[in-house]
Amino acid sequence: MIKVNARATFSQEGPFKLTTIERRNLQPHDVLIEIKYAGICHSDIHTARGEWGPVKYPLVPGHEIAGIVSQVGSEVTKYSVGDRVGVGCLVDSCGECSNCQKGEEQYCLGGSTATYGAIDRYGQYTQGGYSTHIVVTEDFVVRIPDAIPLDAAAPLLCAGITTYSPLRHWGAAPGKKVAVVGLGGLGHMAVKIAHAMGAEVTVLSQSLKKKEDGLQLGADHYYATSDPETFKQLAGSFDLIINTVSAQINIDAYLSLLALDGTLVNVGAPADPLAVNVFSLIGHRRSFAGSMIGGIRETQEMLDFCAEHNIASEIEVISADRIDEAWERVLASDVRYRFVIDISTMGNE
Ligand SMILES: [Zn+2]
Ligand SMILES: [Zn+2]
Repeated sequence: MIKVNARATFSQEGPFKLTTIERRNLQPHDVLIEIKYAGICHSDIHTARGEWGPVKYPLVPGHEIAGIVSQVGSEVTKYSVGDRVGVGCLVDSCGECSNCQKGEEQYCLGGSTATYGAIDRYGQYTQGGYSTHIVVTEDFVVRIPDAIPLDAAAPLLCAGITTYSPLRHWGAAPGKKVAVVGLGGLGHMAVKIAHAMGAEVTVLSQSLKKKEDGLQLGADHYYATSDPETFKQLAGSFDLIINTVSAQINIDAYLSLLALDGTLVNVGAPADPLAVNVFSLIGHRRSFAGSMIGGIRETQEMLDFCAEHNIASEIEVISADRIDEAWERVLASDVRYRFVIDISTMGNE
């Protein structure tokens, strides 16, 4: 086993403490990554606080990982020491089911292995990126292009792919009208990516507080959903709506904004069921859909796309001793637009 430093939470309430965890010894296809930056995702908080089911403590969250390969197993062919790489929400899957065969490992029928809080195929409890090193099988490692700084690349591994995948799948492109609900960690990436794909992009946010930001990120229009006029004015106008909000929203109101054959995709995941009036769907052959991260091949495609279009996440870099404070700010929506932990500060008091 390889002992490495990490920041773990020891209960639902926290706080984070510096500790050591064990990574497995390198198997033939494993890569040891020296983590440079780890993004803070809202899922880290949901998971660590037991909101998505019971978890085992200590827990080291983090599934937006950017770093450098520092050692490779004897049969690794894809990566060499010194390569700039990333790891997202998954570290393994069965590799054999029809979904894995299609490169959609996130929908593995055998159950893919989450980067933290899961039991892997070695029987070990997975621990995430708030840590100095991680060992991952090479098939679940992606290459970070030189054009993207490692700190701003980290959030692409979850926030980036979570929005890129549905935008690709439902055909965001020139001539298409795309709306993004919520301008947070996911939403700001959705705006940048949809804009880079050539779509006409509208932000639907509760207020106009972040309007200037939204337009700067690439949105063509910006509306406040607290204004009832917005729903009248935009009725029937979008081909695709990406809903990044994980709170309860009035789904029927948002469905009414879709054009014929339009799709509303949820990437946010509210804990409680949402009500849908089926008349909202059948009236204009609309769809209500969901999407979860993306496969490894598509994650690489997303990173290459971001490099080509010169986009990355808007970040605020913090030291490792400020994770608790950053989490409180995430919960208060007080971040523009993603916190990234500088892992070189892991030992800070
Ligand atoms: Zn995430
Ligand atoms: Zn599978």
